[in-house]
Amino acid sequence: MFRNLKADPKFSCCQEKEPAKRTRPSNMTDRQTRPNAASRKLELSKLEEEKPSEDDEFIGFATLPDQVHRKAVKRGFEFSFMVVGETGLGKSTLINSLFLTDLYKDRKFPTHILDNAEQTTDIERKQLEIEEKGVKVRLSVVDTPGFSEALNGDESWKPIIDYVDRQFEQYYQAESGVNRKNIQDSRVHCCLYFISPYGHGLKPIDIFMMKKLHHKVNIIPLIAKSDTLTPKEKARLKSKILDQIEENQLDIYKFPECDSDEDEEFKEQDKELKAAIPFAVVGSNTVVEVAGKKVRGRMYQWGIVEVENPAHCDFVKLRQMLISTHMQDLKDITSDIHYENYRAEHLEAQMKHSTRERTKLKRESMMNLGKLEDTDNLIAQKDAEIQRMQEMLAKMQAQLQTSPRTAVNGT
Ligand code: GDP
Repeated sequence: MFRNLKADPKFSCCQEKEPAKRTRPSNMTDRQTRPNAASRKLELSKLEEEKPSEDDEFIGFATLPDQVHRKAVKRGFEFSFMVVGETGLGKSTLINSLFLTDLYKDRKFPTHILDNAEQTTDIERKQLEIEEKGVKVRLSVVDTPGFSEALNGDESWKPIIDYVDRQFEQYYQAESGVNRKNIQDSRVHCCLYFISPYGHGLKPIDIFMMKKLHHKVNIIPLIAKSDTLTPKEKARLKSKILDQIEENQLDIYKFPECDSDEDEEFKEQDKELKAAIPFAVVGSNTVVEVAGKKVRGRMYQWGIVEVENPAHCDFVKLRQMLISTHMQDLKDITSDIHYENYRAEHLEAQMKHSTRERTKLKRESMMNLGKLEDTDNLIAQKDAEIQRMQEMLAKMQAQLQTSPRTAVNGT
């Protein structure tokens, strides 16, 4: 229990008396009050002792990055990308090439990833977990059925758009739920869009499809099967595609500006990545031998195209940006821009729906109100009728009282 200090005589002096002010004694000279050199030295050394060390001055928030890092590593990372494009452009083959490389030497592959590529007839989501230096990444690869080349209104492209929307919807539901911990993020962070090497740039279906996708997902355009093109043709096609992207205002993924404090090597790498868009890729499910070394490649009479040789195609650049340099940025853009777009649209649609529902209800209740009014009118009519009858009855009773015969006859 707390004691009442005021009531305690031991403390009464502290409560009532004002603390004594320290004043200089009148018999002391100014000189006497000034410290001599020895005492000044002593005072200084005391002060030195009391002065906080550099470590004492830290509150501790400098360790925040470490805390965030530790927590993120513990939680692991999730990343999803999807491949989109016409049938037969090598989408499934490229997925296999991306994950069957020796990038992750100790990695165990799930059997379904090892399967030979077959033509995709439905949307397939494949997951694999990769670990490097204790950092875990759960990768989801979404293989989509190729759509037909012609814009013939068959809507074969629709399941792809629906899939992206569904992932947003699932995330939205999870986020709005009671338990918002451990939300599985299956949103599509990036879309590898395959462009045919045989055409003269983007086809109308590509432009149509990219327009359907560009505000929902980060599009990274790829020139498929680039081993079928000469370097000159490749360069011409790249430039044509970039022009078409601009002309048609297609909002493909924009690589962020490189920070000025990054080292020169990184800056150079970043420049090369940006210059390679659209990435010209080659995929292969076969391993061939080049100078005694087993590599993933495509064998022709005229030679071997190596998937992972930067001189042959942009496969390594693509993998590098996806996995080691731009994964977080792709996730951030998905979260901050595409998902926010979805949420805004969703909320607007929800509001419109509620307004429509309210109007409908109001209309219905008005109609019911009309019905009620009818009933009220009916009841009022009945009441009036009853009252008329009661009055008639009262009159009759009064008449009966004045002529007892009638009353006798009446019984
Ligand atoms: P998808 O329908 O887009 O998934 O295409 P697939 O991955 O099933 O590949 C269709 C065909 O193209 C297969 O015969 C592959 O071997 C072949 N193919 C895949 N990638 C390449 C490539 O980079 N170059 C060449 N020349 N052929 C490829």
